[in-house]
Amino acid sequence: MVISDFGGVLTTPLVEAFASVQDRVGIPPKTFGEALRALNEREGTNPLFELECGRITEKEFQVQLADGLEPLLGHRPEIEDFGLLLFEALDPNPGMIDLIREVRRDGIRTSLLTNNVKEWEVKWRSMMPIDELFETVVDSAFVGCRKPDPRIYNLTLERVGLDPEECIFIDDMKINIDAANELGLHGVHFRETAQVRAEVHDLLA
Ligand SMILES: [Mg+2]
Repeated sequence: MVISDFGGVLTTPLVEAFASVQDRVGIPPKTFGEALRALNEREGTNPLFELECGRITEKEFQVQLADGLEPLLGHRPEIEDFGLLLFEALDPNPGMIDLIREVRRDGIRTSLLTNNVKEWEVKWRSMMPIDELFETVVDSAFVGCRKPDPRIYNLTLERVGLDPEECIFIDDMKINIDAANELGLHGVHFRETAQVRAEVHDLLA
């Protein structure tokens, strides 16, 4: 089975999309990270991780993030449209979507394992025919844990009824690949489409 990440693998790079949103809302790229780190130190939890585990709503996340950004910016920022702008800046990656279609045609099963946001489900699902491409979708926001927590990989393996050695896992974040490799999956670190296509075809050959 091929298990794929969503953001930054099946889409254009997230870093570029974030940069374009930060440009449009007028917040320097580093400042979001600084705000999240400061909130993490103060509260003991990272609001982004809480959001991705479905423990807080997008609205609650926006309030917390604005709290964190306010002292750094000297004013309270307008970030309500952040999600909308992010999706406007994100496009599907046709080369990777083709790869999923090709392996399925060859009889290989495919699943999606994504760290995501409940309120964004309609938006990201509308970017490509998810249910046609994947037999199973495991979304952090609905299962209450996120990559690189081993529990979400194990949950995925349980749902598809396979052992880790039977699965290739593609992700653009090294930390998520390291966790997958540790459990025995065949991690493929996405850097560019051609490299992943070649590595996946080699592994399946
Ligand atoms: Mg990703």
